[in-house]
Amino acid sequence: MSAQTLIKGNTGEWEMVIGLEVHAQVTSNSKLFSGASSEFGAAPNTHVSLVDAAMPGMLPVLNKYVVEQAIKTGLGLNAQVNKHSVFARKNYFYPDLPQGYQISQYEHPIIGTGKIEIDLPDGSVKEIGITRLHLEQDAGKSVHDMHPTQSYVDLNRSGAALMEIVSEPDIRGPEEATAYVSKLRMILQYLGTCNGNMDEGSMRCDVNISVRKPGDEFGTRAEIKNVNSLRAVHQAILFEAERQIDLIENGEEVVQETRLWDPNKMETRSMRSKEDAHDYRYFPDPDLLPLELTDELLERIKATLPELPDEKKHRFMKDFGLGAYDASVLIAEQDRAAYYESVVKQAGDAKLAANWVINELLGWLNKNDTSLEDSPVSADNLGQLVARIVDNTISGKIAKDVFAMMTETGKNADTIIEEKGLKQVTDTGAIEAIVDEVLAANPDNVAAYKDGKTQLLGFFVGQVMKASQGKANPAMANELLKKKLDA
Ligand code: ADP
Ligand code: MG
Repeated sequence: MSAQTLIKGNTGEWEMVIGLEVHAQVTSNSKLFSGASSEFGAAPNTHVSLVDAAMPGMLPVLNKYVVEQAIKTGLGLNAQVNKHSVFARKNYFYPDLPQGYQISQYEHPIIGTGKIEIDLPDGSVKEIGITRLHLEQDAGKSVHDMHPTQSYVDLNRSGAALMEIVSEPDIRGPEEATAYVSKLRMILQYLGTCNGNMDEGSMRCDVNISVRKPGDEFGTRAEIKNVNSLRAVHQAILFEAERQIDLIENGEEVVQETRLWDPNKMETRSMRSKEDAHDYRYFPDPDLLPLELTDELLERIKATLPELPDEKKHRFMKDFGLGAYDASVLIAEQDRAAYYESVVKQAGDAKLAANWVINELLGWLNKNDTSLEDSPVSADNLGQLVARIVDNTISGKIAKDVFAMMTETGKNADTIIEEKGLKQVTDTGAIEAIVDEVLAANPDNVAAYKDGKTQLLGFFVGQVMKASQGKANPAMANELLKKKLDA
């Protein structure tokens, strides 16, 4: 399956051009400029310092840890870290913005251009440019559904640290966009700089989209806000692209504006015409000095970078002989990758271990809505089970039964194989006895085989396996049967 980048209109094919602005809440105990907790889900207005409530005379104090998190993220995005950056006031009025401005970064962001690789459904890889990453404050939240005629304001989120990560308009369709958000989220989670939880609003997405005839200049874009799940990103892009194509084909123009994604009606709606930067009257925040970073700090942070998703994927492909798809499934989460590596250590066959983790284990967890953390089968135990297939103690088929018992009892593979007497029979004499029984019980088929119907071999193997309750070594059964039938 290849990714969709074109849409057919009445006048031919149109290409989608997309750039994403992702707001990622920085993982940090406290906010960008205050010591208040940034924990999610607290009772309204309980995590609000005087700075967050914008009491007169309060001064912001930059959170050093958040700065380090932004640097770490920049390094993880293969991006330029700017040793000089400036906080600026972005002025606008919202009831949930008590300062009357947001402290953000504008001309001089902490992180400049970078790039990430995205993995597409057909197994190919594409590079997407990162324009910038800057630090800014989150706003509070207006609550409209608690009272019939009044609105409330919850300032818990006010002042929480966000990283706004802006992409180049390199994205060409819904699959590329969701692959970008997924990869970005994975990188942030690996780095520990954002938990990537889109349900809780820790990662929020604005989609900029325009359409053009392939080869033409970029068209006028609309910016869609409130696109906060992968599914919404996909749906909003297709809806908006078709809306714009209809407009242009009917002789109208796309207006540069901010639109809202309504996931219930599955449509975008106009919110407001798009402000230009000068409407915000940006100016350097006089309460904050420019941020100057030292080489020493950058080096120290560089040394703490973990192995990132793409590096891990390539290592898995190289060291374990896995295909790109299997490797990408296994590295999607750090604990999953670590689990797999433990399984491999015991199993002695990396490819077979990958099959078991992906198909049996992840399949079971998914079906039972269980996280890897709560898996009833530990990595050691799964490794032991695979090792018993590799050393011919049990067949792959019996192993599936053993696995099912492991999920039920939490016992390890060796214990179950022992208790249930599932050890594969590899004693030639014992298998030969069963082979003789099966041949004696099926004289007609033996005659047919000898007449040339050699495809009956499969039938005989099946009978031997059945008579041994699946425990006969299939290769040995096969060989002994052939020897006797062809004699
Ligand atoms: P603003 O600050 O007004 O939001 P930016 O120039 O920072 O504008 O662009 C915001 C986003 O819009 C970026 O992700 C960029 O890639 C994207 N973008 C810019 N031009 C276009 C276009 N013609 N079509 C689609 N996306 C675009
Ligand atoms: Mg913008």
